[in-house]
Parts: sequence; C-alpha cells; structure tokens
Amino acid sequence: MAPEEVKQVYPDKHDNVTLVCHECGHVHRIDASPYKAPGRSGRLSITCVGCGHALEALISFRKHYRKETNLSGTCTTRSAQPNKTISGEFSGIVVKNISLSGIGFIVKSPIHAKEGDILNVTFKLDDSKRTVISKQVIVRRIIDNLFAAEFTPPMDPTGSSLAFYLRFSQN
Ligand SMILES: [Zn+2]
Repeated sequence: MAPEEVKQVYPDKHDNVTLVCHECGHVHRIDASPYKAPGRSGRLSITCVGCGHALEALISFRKHYRKETNLSGTCTTRSAQPNKTISGEFSGIVVKNISLSGIGFIVKSPIHAKEGDILNVTFKLDDSKRTVISKQVIVRRIIDNLFAAEFTPPMDPTGSSLAFYLRFSQN
C-alpha cells in the first residue's frame, strides 16, 4: 500500500479509534492508547476479523490543524479539587492560536498558575455567529505571559462549533 493511501484516524476522548474494513465493512474498535507512547509512529496494522484483509491506518494524536488567531477572552484559575471552583484569579487573555487540542494565549494581568493547573477559559470566535467557547484547559507550558494549554476533556473532533470553525478556516 502506498503511503498516500494510508488512512488517517483520530482517536476519540477514550483513545479509541474506529477502523472500518473497506473490503467487508466490518467495524473494528481499537484501543489506540498503546500507540501514544513517545517514539511510536502511530501506524496501525491489523487483520480484519471479518474477512482477513490487511488493514492499515495512521493514528493521529493531537496533530490537528492550528489556526493563528487574535481573539479576546478571559481566564480564571480554579482549585486543584475537581469540580470545586474557588474564587480564583482572573485575567483578560488574547488567544493567539487554536487547534482542536488546545490554545495558546497571552494573559494580560499576572495570574498564579503553573504547568499542570486547570484554568477556565472563555473567548469568542470571529465566525459569523460570534460563537462563545467556554472550556476547561490544563496548562502545558508557560513562557513569560504566554500560555500553551490543552482542552480537557478534548474537543469533539466532529461535532463541535470549534471543529467547524477550524475546518472552515482551513479550506
Ligand atoms: Zn474485512
């Protein structure tokens, strides 16, 4: 099979991928988490349990299209305890880039957050509906006032308005 024919599959929030046999239509649901390890290519090779055909796919982890943006919003810090919001710190933000996996943003006033902290972010897309995105993120990297954070739980890659926004921008 030529490399360009290898199908890309995106894991759902439970790290499962669905691979449909193009010969017999058998649906395989596969746990993709072992393929997440560093150094793994994400290449999946299985034998169809329906017809024995060899199936290949490339599992794509967080390799979503990233859009450069300049969107205003806010962020608030939370307590470390799940589902318990304390009176956190608040800052205006400017979202500099967005993908389905997360955002990069600048905080306008200093907040006491470190890598691994959970923040609530709210910002408005510059689409025709001015869609408001309000999500929880986990801070992955901080350089001065620039934060890189991941959506938690991850965005739905198919149904969300953000997915639509990114897809529309890409084309
Ligand atoms: Zn098959």
